[in-house]
Amino acid sequence: MDITKIRADFPILSREIYGKPLVYFDNGATTQKPRCVVDAIVEEYYSVNANVHRGVHFLSQQATELHEGSRETVRQFVNAHSTSEVIFTRGTTEAINLVAFCFGEEFMNEGDEVIISTMEHHSNIVPWQLLAARKGITLKVIPMTDQGELLLDEYEKLFSERTKIVSIAHISNVLGTINPVKEMIETAHAHGVPVLIDGAQSVPHMQIDVQDLDADFFAFSGHKVYGPTGVGVLYGKEEWLDKLPPYQGGGEMIQSVSFEKTTFNELPFKFEAGTPDYIGTTGLAKALNYVSAIGMDQIVAHDQELTAYAMQRLKEIEGMRIFGEAEHKSSVISFLVGNIHHFDMGTLLDRLGIAVRTGHHCAEPLMRRLGIEGTVRASFGLYNTKEEIDSLIDGIERVRKMF
Ligand code: PLP
Repeated sequence: MDITKIRADFPILSREIYGKPLVYFDNGATTQKPRCVVDAIVEEYYSVNANVHRGVHFLSQQATELHEGSRETVRQFVNAHSTSEVIFTRGTTEAINLVAFCFGEEFMNEGDEVIISTMEHHSNIVPWQLLAARKGITLKVIPMTDQGELLLDEYEKLFSERTKIVSIAHISNVLGTINPVKEMIETAHAHGVPVLIDGAQSVPHMQIDVQDLDADFFAFSGHKVYGPTGVGVLYGKEEWLDKLPPYQGGGEMIQSVSFEKTTFNELPFKFEAGTPDYIGTTGLAKALNYVSAIGMDQIVAHDQELTAYAMQRLKEIEGMRIFGEAEHKSSVISFLVGNIHHFDMGTLLDRLGIAVRTGHHCAEPLMRRLGIEGTVRASFGLYNTKEEIDSLIDGIERVRKMF
């Protein structure tokens, strides 16, 4: 990977913060955007913009072609069987809410159970709790080791005849743990239970093949994979999506409407009420093509090199506590140093131009499991370098000496 060339694609990386070169280590929250993504968005607004699907005029048809072409790009990127299985959403959160709502409506009743894990983001906890409040379902939680690995024996024991769905993160946004989701899906299927994978943190960092995983549902966000905000994807197997009721009502999702009866559109449109973010989907497709052009193998190798280097260097720091030491770990590193509050560490690193995230990372139950209130989190993207990790280490040492 030619990092210098890649970095030149991201204008924001040449910014200075408080007179220091920006070191952007908050990629788990959102990634920066390459020029080609922003250019595609500007270009579409300037020269194509028209509402999609219903128009007979030239621009509408061109916009529709771009939008549906983006769906095909997503299909290829995650290796879905058909574009009918690719639903555009606002992001991972909306995709999980869609499944919790529609699957819950159709298939879950009082006393039924969903299995999630200790390391879920709030967006894979709260939608199920809302369903629990509405329908009286129960949440079962897979425990984990102190290293941050899910206990698969315990997982297997959670299944009962009331288990209706499993919903788990592919990669933890706090611990970086890469969960063995293929194996976990196999276990669930052996019990006749479908699985939703929260791929928010995995799509930017590993090759995704939904058919190989045999995932029933798979959710991710465009903005975490170098695409624009406000657009994401729910992949769902056609056989499941066909059985689910619509999520929201409105235009696009209908076939015909009368005051007496409405029939719904075919997949994937049944789940896409209202004008879609057709400009956003163009940006997302550009981002996925950008990632593909670099090559996921290269990205994974770069990630692993940065992670190994950062883990080794961080551990040299006195008082360092790292949270998440799974054998299979992605480029997300959470830590605390001595008794320095995560917020103080983050604020002082910021003054050195280093952007890290602090707090509970939308995973309060996980923080409780770890017995802490929050961590400092450094998460890497394809444009980060070992020199930037050196800056982080120097920065942490400076802060440590101040306290
Ligand atoms: N799931 C995980 C594991 C995440 O890391 C995030 C975002 O940080 C989300 C879900 C929610 O993503 P979004 O806010 O883009 O919907």
